[in-house]
This record gives sequence, structure tokens and C-alpha cells, in this order.
Amino acid sequence: RKNIGILTSGGDAQGMNPCVRAVVRMAIARRCRPFFIYEGYQGLVDGGDKIREAQWSDVSGFLTLGGTMIGTARCKAFRELEGRRTGVLNLIRHGIDALVVIGGDGSLTGADRLRAEWPEHVAALEGEGKITKEQADRFRTLMIVGMVGSIDNDLASTDMTIGACSALERICESVDAILSTATSHQRAFVVEVMGRHCGWLALNAAISTGADYLFIPEAPPKHDDWEASMCATLKASRDAGKRTSLVIVAEGAIDRHLNPIKADYIRDILASRLGYDTRVTILGHVQRGGAPAHFDRFLGTMQGAEAVEAILRATPQTPSPVIGMLENKITTQPLKEAIELTGQVAQAIEAKDFERAIGLRAASFAK
Ligand code: ATP
Repeated sequence: RKNIGILTSGGDAQGMNPCVRAVVRMAIARRCRPFFIYEGYQGLVDGGDKIREAQWSDVSGFLTLGGTMIGTARCKAFRELEGRRTGVLNLIRHGIDALVVIGGDGSLTGADRLRAEWPEHVAALEGEGKITKEQADRFRTLMIVGMVGSIDNDLASTDMTIGACSALERICESVDAILSTATSHQRAFVVEVMGRHCGWLALNAAISTGADYLFIPEAPPKHDDWEASMCATLKASRDAGKRTSLVIVAEGAIDRHLNPIKADYIRDILASRLGYDTRVTILGHVQRGGAPAHFDRFLGTMQGAEAVEAILRATPQTPSPVIGMLENKITTQPLKEAIELTGQVAQAIEAKDFERAIGLRAASFAK
């Protein structure tokens, strides 16, 4: 019987609640005790009533709710060694011997650090007399299971993150709504979508809404005079009879010198060079809101159930895993590797080596 703590961290994403529900209910079904840790790592550091045992009925209705009902936060203290050590003490005091973290890239990096430092923290707490020898012996290792809850779909080692599909749905609904008014007035629209340094949402939104032009961080325009190519493309489609122009720009879009490409700048170009009545819509947090789409309910549930199974299968030698989905199959891979690979992709983008970044992502899919 394991005592399993569960927290959601970083930006909220639709599908986190179904995932929490699945962990709680699967844990109970498998005769374990699940514990909510409220407000992400902040709850871990604060302890006290921020950590409490969860019952089956506590997660009733979670399946259809957006956001995260157990709260999330960005926690400064957890970035420091002392903060993480306090978190370890709180886990041991509650008898928690496995931790499930649902969050983005940063949250899982934090989880990986906690995993790596765990024996050192336990030894230090024992040395300081804050835990007994029996506790130190019982909690020599902590199993941490990561799941990627993020609308950005920016973690290597999984095809889809929990929340990305719902955010894409929301973007498509919003762009559909914009297009009906744009068509009536023959306007051009520049729509900025989220995704940080990842263009997955923007690319998929552009394909799904039939956008005329797209800017994503992974594929900056090849030439400095990209404004001219964009105007020529948009003009050609207007000349062929189209009544609107739609440009989708990822929030992290950059030119080949790594300068940001911003929606307002694109609007000014379309207005000044083509004379189009051009409006900007920055979709913002609406993308993270609302009920989870079917796929995120499904993905959260399947992964949450697998997280509990991975905990029960583990031996003290098993590396902490991240649960993902590759080619429609739920997968379990070492958390450390997933974090390293994601870091390598980020470094390649920073070094403008886009071919390598795309190759690394592709290699993670092939695994
Ligand atoms: P999103 O992709 O939605 O922004 P995220 O998980 O990447 O989610 P972050 O703000 O990067 O969001 O991280 C969430 C929390 O995880 C941080 O507030 C911090 O407590 C912890 N964290 C992030 N990076 C580290 C790190 N390198 N070491 C320790 N803790 C970290």
C-alpha cells in the first residue's frame, strides 16, 4: 500500500482535473491512499492543511471541469534547496512515499531535481534530527511520476500534452467566429496564439482554420524581406476571390535573427503596404479556459491510471518516469531523459539550429 501525493503545477491546462480524478480513484481501487497537495509546489513547501487525504467522492464531477480544482502556483521557494528540503520533510511527515506531478516543462524539471536530491535531503533531515532513523530508512527513495499538463505541447517524449487539444479547440472556435465577421467586412485579421517557444498550437490552428500565413518559432522566415513574401501571398489569394486574409502568429514567433515577430507589426505592414483594414486579436487566456475536450478527458484518465500502475510496478531501482503518449499508446519513459531531451531542443532553438531542434523532436517520437 502506497501513500500517493498528487499536485498540479505551473500554468493550468484543461484535462488536469480528469487526470487528478483518475489518480485518486485508481489509487483507491488499488488499495493505496491518495493525498491532495494544494497549490502546486507551494502546498508542498507550506505543508499543514495544504496536504490532505483525498476520498473517492472528492473528485466527483472533475471529469468535465477546466483548470485545476486543487490549485496551481508558481513557487519561488521550491526553486531553492531549502524550499525543496521543507517539501521533503512535509512529504515524510504525511507518510507520502510516491508523488505524482502534473505540470509543464518547469514543473517536471523541479520534480526531476527533487528526485535527484532526495537521498541527500533525507540524510540531512535525519542529521538535523527532524526525522527519525526509522523514517529515514522507510523513505530512502521517493517515486515521482510526471505527467505533462500544458496547452503548449512543448515537451519531448510525448505526442500530446494534457490540455493542448482543448486549447486548439478553443482557438479554432474563436478563429471561426472571427472569420465570419472578417468575411462580411473583407477585413484582414492577425491572430496571436499561445505556445511560448513552441509553434504546435499555431501550426495546427493554421491548418485547421485555413489561414493564409503562419509564423512559428521553429521555422522563422528564411529571408529578411519576409514582409514582401507575406504581402504577395495574401494579395494573390485576394486576387483569386477570397474576401478575407488570416495570419496566425505564435506568441514566440521570431525572424531569422531571433527578433520577435509581433502581431501589431504584421497589422501595420498589411495596412500600409496592401491597404487592408486589418485587426489584431490576441486570444490570451481564453485558450486555457473552458471544459476539457474529449481527448484531454481521455488522455488525463488513461495517463492518471497508468501513473498509479507505474508506482505499484516500481522497485527502488526504477527510475522516476514520465507518462506520455506515443503513436496512440500510453508510454512510460525515464523522467530524466524527457527533461534532458526537452532542454536540448530548447538549446538548439536558442542556437538557431532549427534542423537539430526538429530532428530531436522527431527522434523522441521515434523512440
Ligand atoms: P507552463 O508550461 O504552463 O508554464 P511550467 O511547469 O513550465 O508550466 P513553470 O513556472 O516553469 O511552469 O514552473 C512551475 C513551478 O515549478 C515553478 O514555480 C517552480 O516552483 C518549479 N520549478 C520550475 N523550474 C524549476 C527548477 N529548475 N528547479 C526547481 N523548481 C522548478
